[in-house]
Formats: sequence, C-alpha cells, structure tokens
Amino acid sequence: MASLSTQSVTEVHHWNESLFSFKTTRDQTLRFENGHFVMLGMEVDGKPLMRAYSIASPNYDEELEFLSIKVADGPLTSRLQNIQVGDELFVSSKPTGTLVADHLLDGRNLYLISTGTGLAPFISIIQDPEVYEKFDRIILTHGVRYTSELAYQEFITNQLPNNPFFGEEVREKLVYYPTVTREEFSTQGRLTNLMSSGKMFADIGLDKADPEHDRFMICGSPSMLKDTCDILDDWGFEESLRGIKGHYVVERAFVE
Ligand SMILES: Cc1cc2nc3c(=O)[nH]c(=O)nc-3n(C[C@H](O)[C@H](O)[C@H](O)COP(=O)(O)OP(=O)(O)OC[C@H]3O[C@@H](n4cnc5c(N)ncnc54)[C@H](O)[C@@H]3O)c2cc1C
Repeated sequence: MASLSTQSVTEVHHWNESLFSFKTTRDQTLRFENGHFVMLGMEVDGKPLMRAYSIASPNYDEELEFLSIKVADGPLTSRLQNIQVGDELFVSSKPTGTLVADHLLDGRNLYLISTGTGLAPFISIIQDPEVYEKFDRIILTHGVRYTSELAYQEFITNQLPNNPFFGEEVREKLVYYPTVTREEFSTQGRLTNLMSSGKMFADIGLDKADPEHDRFMICGSPSMLKDTCDILDDWGFEESLRGIKGHYVVERAFVE
C-alpha cells in the first residue's frame, strides 16, 4: 500500500442518515488531478483500515473534502460516520483514477453522470477552471433515491455560480440535472432510462448524445456503470482505455 499520512478532520457535515461529508487538512506534498481518488481510513485494532475515496475538493484547495456513505455494518463507515473535528485519519500519498479530463478527446459537451456518492469526483471537476475552458457545456447529473440524498445542491446552484474567479463560466456553462427515483421531484426516474429515452437531452435542450462532440464521465454503482456503458457503446462511443483518449471514462463509486 502507498505510504500514509495522518490528517486532522476540520469539518463534518451530515446530509441525512445515510450520507455525510467531511474535510481534512492536506499534506503539503500531496498532488492530484481533479477526479482522482485516494485510500482513506482510520486506525482500527491498532492497524489502518483503508477504503477508496474520491476527493471532492479541487486540487488547488488547502484542505481535502470527501463525501461518504454510512453503511451500518460497514467495517470503516460504521466508525467513520462518528468522526469529530480534530480526529485523525489516514490518507494515502498516491492519488489515482480514470476520471480525468485529459483522458477524453476534445469535445463540445461534457456529461458527468453520477449516482449516489459517485457525485464526489464531479464536485472536484466542476471546480476546475480548465474544464470550463475545454468544454462549451458541462452537464452534472445526479441520480438518487430520495431528495435528501441530493448533496451539494446549494453549493452547485448558489455558491459555485458566484465564485469570484470563474463564476461567470459556471453560470454560462454548468447545467445541473438531478433526478430522484423514489419520491416526487421535478425530474424523476433512473438516469439510464432518461438517457435512453432521450428525455434528459430534451430537458436540457441538447441533441441526443453524439460521439462526434459529446464526452462522458461516469461514476456510480457497478450496475449503473454497466447500463450506461451499454447505452453509450450502442451509440458508437468508445471508452478511454490504457491511456488512449476516448469518448468516455468510468469509475466505480463502490464495489458490491
Ligand atoms: C474507486 C472507488 C472510489 C470510491 N469513492 C467513494 C467515495 O467517494 N465515497 C464513499 O462513500 N465511498 C466510496 N467508495 C466506496 C468505499 O471504498 C467503501 O466501500 C465505503 O466507504 C464503505 O466502506 P465500509 O468499510 O464501511 O464498507 P464496505 O465493506 O467497503 O462496503 C460494504 C457494502 O456497502 C455498500 N457500499 C459501499 N460503499 C458504498 C457507496 N459509496 N454507496 C453505496 N453503497 C456502498 C456495498 O454494497 C458494499 O459491498 C469508493 C470505492 C471505489 C472502488
């Protein structure tokens, strides 16, 4: 395992009974690309208990931010959900991952397709000024079961558009498309159905996705990834693999 640094928790926010986010101090030497994940954990029975976590903060922030599930009997998150400001966590020193803009061919529209905690790497990416230079539109989707799981809504719709450095680009280019499956909401249904039926594209006023100019980053449950890749493959999109740029990149938000 890559070497670990010890970081202090600086902020904890509980979104609901199944989701929370937290910030930690950051090792001055830690470098990462927006969209990367690290191994994160805490000491359990005298040993580090580590899990993969996407970094939700952008790479220019002084602190690190993470969005976490609470699994009642999960070895790590049954404990991690109780962390308090000042507690110590381990963070690995070698961030990695496939969800980076450089793995994509140039394009016009960038779709960020997420379910659940798969939103986390995209919270980092939508704070990357270079992404706004590269693409005309960035469409951030977030599929959840209940509205209370729509984490970061206020940040996405109010704070980010008022960012003093690139708020104007955000207002011009970022489209937020949340959808809920088990409760009344303005958009309902599974993202994969909304894509394959064409409703998502109609709702945001864009043509059906085309490999010519549309690019995708996908992060969610293993089954959501499979279904989304099947749709994109069917439409002629090619995944970026082994360092060769492609039309889309994928990362699992967790392992089943
Ligand atoms: C590349 C990668 C990035 C990840 N990034 C994040 C992240 O940013 N935030 C995060 O909370 N988790 C993330 N995970 C999952 C994370 O590594 C752990 O599985 C999670 O923290 C639960 O740990 P645990 O020890 O409590 O339970 P585990 O034993 O790890 O998991 C128990 C079960 O809980 C379910 N589960 C685990 N994680 C999730 C999840 N995120 N959403 C829904 N169900 C889940 C699965 O069914 C799993 O089998 C990521 C996983 C991978 C592979």
